[in-house]
Parts: sequence; structure tokens; C-alpha cells
Amino acid sequence: MKKFIDKLREQHTLTREEFLSLLSCKDTSLYAYAREQAVQVRRQVYGTDIYIRGLIEFTNYCKNNCYYCGIRSGNKKASRYRLDKNQILDCCQAGYALGFRTFVLQGGEDPWFTDEMLTEIIRDMKAHYPDCAVTLSLGERSPESYRRLYDAGADRYLLRHETANKEHYQKLHPPNLSLENRKACLRNLKEIGYQVGAGFMVGSPGQTLECLAEDLLFLREFSPHMVGIGPFLSHQDTPFADKRNGSLELTLFLLALIRLMLPKVLLPATTALGTLHPDGRKLGVLSGCNVVMPNLSPSGVREKYLLYDHKIATGLEAAESVNLLKKQMEEIGYKVVCDRGDYPQP
Ligand code: SAM
Repeated sequence: MKKFIDKLREQHTLTREEFLSLLSCKDTSLYAYAREQAVQVRRQVYGTDIYIRGLIEFTNYCKNNCYYCGIRSGNKKASRYRLDKNQILDCCQAGYALGFRTFVLQGGEDPWFTDEMLTEIIRDMKAHYPDCAVTLSLGERSPESYRRLYDAGADRYLLRHETANKEHYQKLHPPNLSLENRKACLRNLKEIGYQVGAGFMVGSPGQTLECLAEDLLFLREFSPHMVGIGPFLSHQDTPFADKRNGSLELTLFLLALIRLMLPKVLLPATTALGTLHPDGRKLGVLSGCNVVMPNLSPSGVREKYLLYDHKIATGLEAAESVNLLKKQMEEIGYKVVCDRGDYPQP
């Protein structure tokens, strides 16, 4: 199997059958080999730099009812909140002082925030912090809306494809949502000029190895600038309350494969990974990740943006503990840098 890892490192792609063979192999020495190779590639491209992003979870209202997500519209137990522009700018001010040079505005799909409101927020963020990148993660919107937000100054957009398999997509989402539209949004974002992030959950209910092979082939073809993957973690007030969490080992293996396939990709060690295992972030970096996204939201709302049970928001996860994060990264030979951390230009 190692020959497939070597081939992926050299040629950056594999056939569907080769991906399937790799994914079917549960050999821990193969996992370790893939991670070592991924770390080498990551070091060739990014050295030991770790980019940090300040995550501002500005609304947990959502019109969608995705079966896996704790802030789905059907969860009547969720305590809902919105941040206003000034609260968002306060988060940026705190984050800037801590060394953050990318702010990520993430939220449920909340129509209360119109294009006009969002463009004003983005313009103000860019006016106050012109040396910072603004990343959006607001879900599916119209091409016109994406364009307006881009013209207002947004640099990047995170929109996980969630799964590249159509049938699986319908097992995770209600009928009004489709893989087709998700992919159309991703293509549209790229055409407009955003640095775009796709991604998926590892171990989401109904996911097969074939689905994962399709995810990898989709990422290969779409070639996003960023890839967000993390384990599926169950939430007690969703239809998937009793489903098993995704596996740490498989997530780390997939992170390594993605680094080998897309050497320059910006690859975060996600909050879900840090929630699944206390050393999740570190292990992510030791599998090829080069980005960490600590939480910059006001502490009073952090426990309300609950996508899954036990989501971490304190300690190393909190932006204000960035010094702890720096220390942890130094312990494994990496360095948190004060930088926008853009996708390297050719
Ligand atoms: N509304 C935006 C969207 O749809 O892209 C951004 C917010 S959404 C909550 C961000 C991501 O959280 C989703 O793309 C999904 O992959 C992840 N997520 C939601 N519920 C999860 C769960 N139970 N376990 C792990 N990740 C989850």
C-alpha cells in the first residue's frame, strides 16, 4: 500500500480504485507512513509556519435543518443569538491585538443579515484592519450576493461540500438542499475570485469508503485553496443523536492524504478534531495541517454555537489563549506566525 502513498506524493492523484484500496487498509503503519510523508510535504511548502484565524461565530440562527447540526432550525432547544456590527468589530480589535491577521465570520444561514448589512460589516472590518484577510462562512447564497460580499472586500469563503456522493448528501440534508447547488456555489465562489474552502465530515452517518473516495476525487478535481475536514460528532438534539462519532485515526489519515494530493492547500486542524481528542490539534499538525482557528467570539455566546455536544471553546481553543497555543506548537517544532496566511501564488 505504501506505493500508493508514494504515487500520491509524486503525482498528486490516484484512481478511485487506488483510493479505495488505501481507505480499506486499516494498517496503523500505513497511517503513520502517510502522516510522515504529509509532514515532509507540508514543510517543503510552508516550513514550520502555522497560520492562525480568529473565528467569529456571529449568528446561530439558521434557516436550514441539516440532520447532523446542533444549530439546525428544528432544534427548538438551541438558545439563539446574533452579534451586531460593533460586537463583531470588538472581536476583531481583541483579535488584532493578539496577532490575528485573518478573521473568519461564520454563522448559520440567517436571512436577518441582509447583503447590505453584511457588506457594511465587511467594509468596516477592512477599513479598520486593512492588513487583515476576511473569510466568510455563511452557507449557500446567490451568485449576486457572493459578488457583492467579494466587492465589499471579503477575501475567502469556506463552504464544505459535506459529501461528494449524491445519495449520501440526501441522507444528511432535507430535500430542499442538494449537492448540485452546493457544488454550483463552490464553482461560483471560485469564478468570482475568492480563495475557496471545501471539505467534509469524517464518519458522518451513512458514509462509506466509496463516499470518501468520491470526496477525495472531488477535491482533486475542484482543487480548493482550503480544505476543512473534521470528525462528525453527534449532537443530542438532532436526528443523529445516537450516531457514533467519527474516528480520530481515519481523520488524521485523510488529512495526510489531502496534504499529499494538494500540497499547497491551507489545511486547518479543526475544532471538531480538538474536541474529539485533547491532542487533536497537535495530531492534526503532525498529519500535515498548517492552520488553526481559535475562537474569537465573545465568551458569553461561545457555548451557544453548539454544532455538536461538548464542543470546546476554552483553553487552547480560545483566541485569548494564543500564547498557550504558541507554546504547544513550539513543543512539536512549529511556529505560530502573525500573517494573513494566503494561498501561495504560483
Ligand atoms: N452555515 C454555514 C455552512 O453551511 O457552511 C457555516 C456554518 S456550518 C455549522 C459549518 C460546518 O460545521 C458545516 O460545514 C459542517 O461540516 C460542520 N458541522 C455541523 N454539524 C457538525 C457535527 N455534528 N459534527 C461535525 N461537524 C459539524
